[in-house]
Order: sequence, then C-alpha cells, then structure tokens
Amino acid sequence: MTDTTTVNPGIAHGLYTEGDPVADTKAPPGPIADKWTTRKFEAALVNPANRRKLDVIIVGTGLAGGAAAATLGEGGYNVKVFCFQDTPRRAHSIAAQGGINAAKNYKEDGDSTYRLFYDTVKGGDYRARESNVYRLAEVSANIIDQCVAQGVPFAREYGGLLDNRSFGGVQVSRTFYARGQTGQQLLIGAYQALERQVAAGTVEQYTRHEMLELVVVDGKARGIIARDLVTGEIETHLADAVVLASGGYGNVFYLSTNAMGSNVTASWRAHRKGAYMANPCYTQIHPTCIPVAGDHQSKLTLMSESLRNDGRIWVPKNRDDCDKDPRQIPEADRDYYLERIYPSFGNLVPRDIASRQAKNVCDEGRGVGPMVGDFRRGVYLDFSEAIDRLGKAAVEAKYGNLFDMYAQITGENPYEVPMRIYPAVHYVMGGLWVDYDLQSTIPGLFVTGEANFSDHGANRLGASALMQGLADSYFVLPNTIRDYLSKGPFAPISADEPSVVAARTSVEQRTAKLLAINGERSVDSFHKELGNVMWEYCGMERSEEGLLKAIDLIRGLREEFWRNVRVLGAADTLNQSLEKAGRVADFLELGELMCIDALHRRESCGGHFRAESQTEDGEALRHDDEYLYVAAWEFEGGDGDGEMSAPVLHKEDLVYEAIELKQRSYK
Ligand SMILES: Cc1cc2nc3c(=O)[nH]c(=O)nc-3n(C[C@H](O)[C@H](O)[C@H](O)COP(=O)(O)OP(=O)(O)OC[C@H]3O[C@@H](n4cnc5c(N)ncnc54)[C@H](O)[C@@H]3O)c2cc1C
Repeated sequence: MTDTTTVNPGIAHGLYTEGDPVADTKAPPGPIADKWTTRKFEAALVNPANRRKLDVIIVGTGLAGGAAAATLGEGGYNVKVFCFQDTPRRAHSIAAQGGINAAKNYKEDGDSTYRLFYDTVKGGDYRARESNVYRLAEVSANIIDQCVAQGVPFAREYGGLLDNRSFGGVQVSRTFYARGQTGQQLLIGAYQALERQVAAGTVEQYTRHEMLELVVVDGKARGIIARDLVTGEIETHLADAVVLASGGYGNVFYLSTNAMGSNVTASWRAHRKGAYMANPCYTQIHPTCIPVAGDHQSKLTLMSESLRNDGRIWVPKNRDDCDKDPRQIPEADRDYYLERIYPSFGNLVPRDIASRQAKNVCDEGRGVGPMVGDFRRGVYLDFSEAIDRLGKAAVEAKYGNLFDMYAQITGENPYEVPMRIYPAVHYVMGGLWVDYDLQSTIPGLFVTGEANFSDHGANRLGASALMQGLADSYFVLPNTIRDYLSKGPFAPISADEPSVVAARTSVEQRTAKLLAINGERSVDSFHKELGNVMWEYCGMERSEEGLLKAIDLIRGLREEFWRNVRVLGAADTLNQSLEKAGRVADFLELGELMCIDALHRRESCGGHFRAESQTEDGEALRHDDEYLYVAAWEFEGGDGDGEMSAPVLHKEDLVYEAIELKQRSYK
C-alpha cells in the first residue's frame, strides 16, 4: 500500500508545483437529469442574420470535427475546417471498427439513460465528471436517429430493426454497428453532411493544412497559424472562436493502433498557449490487438472488441504447452482465465482489466506465439465454439472483414486456428481540459472528440468514443458555442496585430530551426526511442522508480533531438520529414508531462496501474481520499527546444451525487 503521508515525489523532485483548484463553472445546479435541459435553455441565442457575421475555425474533420463543421455550417455560421489529410474521409475515425453505444433499450434487456451513465462512470473507475457523462448518455439515442437519417447502414436484424451487440464492461446489448466498419460508415455520414455545407458555401474546407499554432488575442482564441503541406506556405486564419477536434495522442508510444498521422500538435500548441491538459497519463491499452511481431513495425492493428462477444480468450494451463498447436491442447488443459476470474462479465470485462490479465498470464510464462525477449506475448482468441454453435457463415457475416484483415496480416486462418492477440496502445482518455460547455481554459477555444479529456475517466468503455465525439459535435457544442458567440462578433483583428505576427513568426522560426540542425539521427529513430521509454515505464504498469527514470530519459532524448535530428528537404515544398519532426518534438514534451502526471497519481485507477497500489488479488486500488480529482496541468514556460519549466497542477474535485463511489468489481 502506498505511503500517503510523505510529500508527493513529483513535488519533492521539483517536477511540478501546485496552483489554485479549477472548477467546471458551466454545469447548472439541480438534479442531474435536468442539467442539460437547463443549460440549453439558459444558453443565449444568436439570431440567424447575426450568425452570418460570425466566423468559426474547426481543426479536424474526423467524426468530431466533421460533425461540428456540418452542424455549425447548417446553423448559418461561417466555418473554416482544416485537416492534414488529402480528404476528410481519411481521418483516423475511419478506422473505428466495432460500434457505437446508445441507450435505446431495443433489446428490452434493462438498458436506460441512467444505466449507460452508471456503466460509463464505473467503467472509468470513478474518475469522470458526473454531469458530462449523464449528458452523454442522454443524447446518445439522438445520435443513432441522426445517423440513420443520414443513411448510415447500421446492421439490421432479419425483421429490419437495428441490431445491437455487447461491448466490455456492460451486461446489456447497446452497441450499434455496421459490420466491422462502423467508423467508416459514420464518417461517410458526417462527410456528406459536411460536403453539403461546402457546396452551400457555409463551410470552407482546407485539406492538407496543418495547424501549427493557436492565435490568442487579449486572452481569447482568435485563430490559427497553419502550414499548407503542399506548398509549405505559412497562413494566418482568424475567427471569433476556434474548435479543436484534432483527435488523440496515442502515437506518443510510437506503436499504437492509431493512424500513423495522429499526433498531439494542435492540442499541445494550445496547451503551450494556456489551455490546461487534463489527466494526460490516462491511456487505454486495448486487449485485442495483433501482437508485436518484431522490431520492424511502425503500426499495430486492432482486432475489434466486438470479437469478444463470441470469441473466447484462453492460454494453456501448463507452460510446456505454450509452443504446441492450440488445436492439440485438450479443453481440460486450457485456462479461460477471464471467464474463471470474472464469471459475471467473462470475456467482456472492461479493456483495462482484460489487458492487465493478459499481461499477467504472459508474465507467468503462459503466453503463446513467438518469444519476444524472455516471454511469449500473446493469448488465444478462439472462435471454434462459436463456429460450432452458430455455423461459419454466421460468424463470417458478423466479423468477416476482421477475420480477413487478421489472415492478411498474420498469414493464419482464424476460422481454423485461434487468433493470437496482445494489448496495445489504442486511445487516450486524457486531453485538453474542458468545462461542461466543452470550452478550454482559453476563452473561445472549444475542444471536442478524443482531443478533450471529458467523459471517460481513467478507462473508456468500448464503443463510447464514437458516441462521445458525435454527441459533443452534433448536439452539445452547437448549443454551448452559441452562448459564447452571442457575445460577438468580437473586435476585428488584423494579421498585423502583434500577437498574430508573433504566432506566425514563431512557426516560421521553428520550421527553420528544425531544418537547420542537420544532425545525424532520423526523426523516426527519436520517435521510436521515445515510444519504447513510454511503453516500458508509462505503459501497462507504472512505478515511482520507473517514472523517475523515464523523465530523465525523455529529457535527455529531447535535448539530443534539438541538437542532432536530421530533417531532410526544404520548408517550401511537400516535406513529410519536416511534418513528422514538428510532431515528434511535441510528443517529446507531452511524454514528460504524461510521466509527471502518472508519477504524481500514487493510486491505481482504470488504465493507470501503479505497481505500488494494488489489492491483494492484483486489481487496481484507488485512493479516493487523496485522488478524487481531475489533474489539470498548466504549461509554465519553456523555449521549445529542450528546457521546460515545472508545470502547475490544478485540481478539479470530482463530486459524485448521483452515483455511489465503490471499488469496481466485475466478478
Ligand atoms: C483501430 C481503432 C478502432 C476503433 N474502434 C472504435 C469503435 O469501434 N468504437 C468507438 O467508439 N471508438 C473506436 N475507436 C476510437 C475512435 O475511433 C476515436 O476515438 C475517434 O474516431 C476519434 O475521432 P476524432 O474526430 O476525435 O479524431 P480523429 O478521427 O483522429 O480526427 C482528427 C482530425 O484532426 C485533424 N488534425 C489533427 N491535428 C491537426 C492539425 N495540427 N492541423 C490540422 N488538422 C489536424 C486530422 O487531420 C483529422 O481530420 C477506435 C480507435 C482505433 C484506433
């Protein structure tokens, strides 16, 4: 058990200081079920003629950004939307496989708004803000109606009604899906709504543009500095408000299931300008990914959690069987360890728990597949029983594209041999701090989707990221940003304004500096080394000793980066090496903050597992007396090429009124 009487080691080592608490000031008082109705009513209106005079910049065209741009465009605001891909349809959201939750209770299996709210707060290990999560559950049903109206082809039952399946951490079926391509189909829905507004002239779309700086004038977010990735031109875009929907930063670990381009730059640049970063260490490590196969990979592949509806997870009981053909291992010699340890939830325990148990059985020497270092890092996900029960055709109809993907990557036929899976970095619960209105600590800067920290606490339940991104952007933001914009249009600003010029100059100087270093190491080699440090010390298990070591290693690496990185090419052309260099430079700063956050939180909760804080049977042990808060970090300064001052911690107390705090149990 942690000694909670001593000064926090982060403070003792001068790694951070503590500032005033931070508060969510926008959630109205009153019963939780009434808060959102009250807030919507209290939010001021903007009449349609005035909306045309208001400019909004949106960074991101994934589900969160695409939905926000389409909705605000439809609402009549002037919207500019940015993405670094060549089309909004390539946003990382396209990769989402398994489904999207909504409390529709179509199966009459006991679901309700309250149960979705309860499951999400419990799944997040009681580290999420109650008011936001209740609202998420409340608007979830609208999302499905909206997407069906757009023509999203959700799976249907034989009679034509929408089908559902289950995801981890719940005992009802509330996940709507489109085979294993839910994200793609939802994105096409959002994309066509977006393109309709582009055609209508309310939205201007900037593809292959990367936001490299936030423009803050008189304390308010008023625009962005972006680089045209094709010509290299640095552009200034100004507006009345800015929305970041720039996705998650899981690629700080180098290897993850995220799209290769996903990065933290938009969020980190805003953080450096005053937006607090909340719970940055909360990382989701997904249990069902294709295991790492060696040193050569730059990307990992998810096998959707939906597979755990029918696939059974096991390892051999005896270490000696680990290199045998799994089909030769008799039932009596198999350990279906999740079904054994958690009989109520079985294979559908939440991701943090399933991941940790996979690590445990592999650490015990019962993993399967090739040796990676001293251990085999894999467990079986076996469909033989489902194929016997349902028939191969039924399994293929549900999961066919996932099975094909597995076969193409591994060369094995999962209809015949059990799949091998192992946990991998997948999602970040941490992100920019936002209040109930989804506004950051910089007035006029709103954050939606995976880029913000809200709703999932210390662990996200499956199929709830799509729900959150679309709830945020189709239903919440349009109401709350309206309240902010009702005070505008704000005083016009010009591109010659000193703070705008300073933002632009800083981008130009940084670009020139990266190109001038002309060192000996590739950008990728730094990224890979950072990823190894993060995975080793800030991954599935964290300890005080390891985190202190990681902070030292990251500082050393960052110093070397700015001295010895080699960025080829020029500034005024398409230059992917330069793009990556800027992103890795930001990861090198974020990585340190993640470790400081993980170090200061001397408890285990959800995906944050501190070796020093566990129950007798190895489950996460929270310390609600000390850590029942959101950790919101303020950037204190740094020159951007090595040195960073100690960040300031602001605590937002979490108050649970509608849900009783309990030790989580899925047994
Ligand atoms: C393999 C995989 C499967 C998943 N499956 C599911 C699932 O079944 N259900 C579920 O609920 N969740 C799932 N998730 C999680 C979910 O897909 C993501 O959390 C969600 O799609 C994120 O959406 P987003 O709009 O916030 O960000 P993204 O889709 O990542 O979009 C980010 C956008 O921001 C833009 N951008 C970023 N930085 C900049 C910049 N500096 N300048 C300009 N543009 C920028 C990008 O170009 C992009 O358009 C899955 C995740 C993965 C990795």
